Amino acid sequence: MKNHIYQRLLDQINPLPVVDTHEHMRILDGQIGTIYQEPIQALVVGYLSVDFLSAGAMPGEIELMQDPTVSTDAKWPLFQRFWRSCQHTAYARVTKIVLRQQYGIQQLDRASLDRVAEKLSVQSPQKKLEVLKQANIKAVISDWLFPHPTQRQLRYYSNPVLKQFLTGSIPALPLVRNTFNLPYFHEIRTREFIDFMSSLAQNNITSLQDYEESLFIILQHARDRGVVAIKDQSAYRRPIDFSFPTRAEAESLFNRFLSDARAQLAWPEARPLDDFLFQQSMRFARELNLPVQIHTGLVTGLRNQVDKANASLLAPTLEAHRQVNFDLFHGNWPYMGDLLFLAKSYPNVSINLCWLYMIDPIYARELLKRAVMTVPHGKIFGFGGDYWDAPEFSVAHLELAKQIMADALGDLLEEKWIEEEQALALAMDWLYNNPNRFYNLGLPEK
Ligand SMILES: [Zn+2]
Repeated sequence: MKNHIYQRLLDQINPLPVVDTHEHMRILDGQIGTIYQEPIQALVVGYLSVDFLSAGAMPGEIELMQDPTVSTDAKWPLFQRFWRSCQHTAYARVTKIVLRQQYGIQQLDRASLDRVAEKLSVQSPQKKLEVLKQANIKAVISDWLFPHPTQRQLRYYSNPVLKQFLTGSIPALPLVRNTFNLPYFHEIRTREFIDFMSSLAQNNITSLQDYEESLFIILQHARDRGVVAIKDQSAYRRPIDFSFPTRAEAESLFNRFLSDARAQLAWPEARPLDDFLFQQSMRFARELNLPVQIHTGLVTGLRNQVDKANASLLAPTLEAHRQVNFDLFHGNWPYMGDLLFLAKSYPNVSINLCWLYMIDPIYARELLKRAVMTVPHGKIFGFGGDYWDAPEFSVAHLELAKQIMADALGDLLEEKWIEEEQALALAMDWLYNNPNRFYNLGLPEK
């Protein structure tokens, strides 16, 4: 049973303003959020489907559950089977919170899905935006300026979303602050991507140096259009131990595209070029005064490799680029101690708990408590929903995050480490002041 301190703290944390430091919400036609047509499709969004896969679902079964043209009755037995096996995970907890918050449902059964269907029939993008505003979210830092997941094959050829953003054909939504998604620009594999860069920067690229200049021009242009940070999630594809190759090593790889326009590079031979351009991008971040968000810790989806996303691999990069401020994501799960070491010892390293409360709530609670005791508290960013294009799920994740914050702060109060007033000031800093300041969002200090 939770004690009264917890409840009192939670009641005071609930109305606080929030900067949501990490999402992938897209602005399409000036609107935000995916519209779902069928109840099970609306529930098997994103992470829950990954737990279903972990429980043994076949990719085709997930596709079936997410297909709006298949009837709820036809999907129900399959959904029920995997829901039963996953219902106690924190991903499922977020889905339960969505059911309660958005649909008034306490117990998920077949009949309750008809109530979901009724609500879905009257949803609108405007309502999705309202969901964020009602949760007192003042800004959403969104990482979406890359080809949609259904167009991943474009990765090494082009990036039409970024092009639309830079040419101003995507209307601005004041709530959403964008990030520049970096991996595409250092993972060059084909000449086509260089040609795309040439056209985007309006700079004829005939050397590695021309490419670097073009990248700088594009980053500068993106910043001038309101981008607040650079974001790199290379950990999905490679270990994050970026090295420091010489220009000559990088150039000899780059020049292959010049002497043979149909040449292709592959991993790991591309690594010196990749690493060189990553480090060069960090120098550009310094010049443009852009903070850098780095994906560390869990990589979603199945399998992958636990140690290749450990933030400790970044140490040489963090140490070299001392004037670049790094925001390390996802609590570096499951390597908490390594993250605390980095945030404690490197002035330019901050801790971000985005996505973490629904990965591992107990770990998140422990990280908050240990971070208070080990790291200057201005370097902790408390929340990022990280729920793709589903504001209702981000807001549900926020409810879970606030519960865990109240729990962590309640423990620190009981241990007489802090006073109640300080606990609430910490919550305000984690949720709002720290990210507002770090990302130069210009919102009023609270
Ligand atoms: Zn993310």
